[in-house]
Amino acid sequence: MMGRKQYGCTKMAEFICTRCGKCCISLGRNIRIERSLSPVQHYCRMGISGDIVMVTLPPEHRDLYASGESDPGWCPFLRRGHGDIFTCTVYGSRPGICREFRCRTMTILDREGREVGQVTGRSSLKTSDMALEALWKGLQGSSPEERIRELSRHGYHAEPFS
Ligand code: SF4
Ligand code: SF4
Repeated sequence: MMGRKQYGCTKMAEFICTRCGKCCISLGRNIRIERSLSPVQHYCRMGISGDIVMVTLPPEHRDLYASGESDPGWCPFLRRGHGDIFTCTVYGSRPGICREFRCRTMTILDREGREVGQVTGRSSLKTSDMALEALWKGLQGSSPEERIRELSRHGYHAEPFS
């Protein structure tokens, strides 16, 4: 819920957020309301940078903010809705760290176009493909461009998320 890198002319896949809420539950713990200007406008302190950011609750999220399920351990603006779908009630004015965040940074496909690996963060790979896992281990410390080139040489196709 909670960016954009360009790797030469590599095709970028579109990141689709499923609104599982996990990032806002963990990263959101670092966001706290410092001062409220009104029930719908709040200054927030970012725990990591110490920056102050102002967020605004738009009319369509005010009821959910007031009565939706929340938890003191979550970001104060996160609400759980039906079917375990989470909503950021200040999405339009969410802090920069939330805008930049991607829980997955790259998808890796095999020769047949099947997704065989998911990369989170800078270099954490989740895969059940042993050959890909071994190849990835050997690429620790390489740049994203080098990884993409090397994967391609071995028959994989890597698409970073935009
Ligand atoms: S401000 Fe919104 S996107 Fe950022 S952590 Fe809170 S709920 Fe998530
Ligand atoms: S960015 Fe990822 S972890 Fe966060 S809500 Fe979306 S799918 Fe879940």
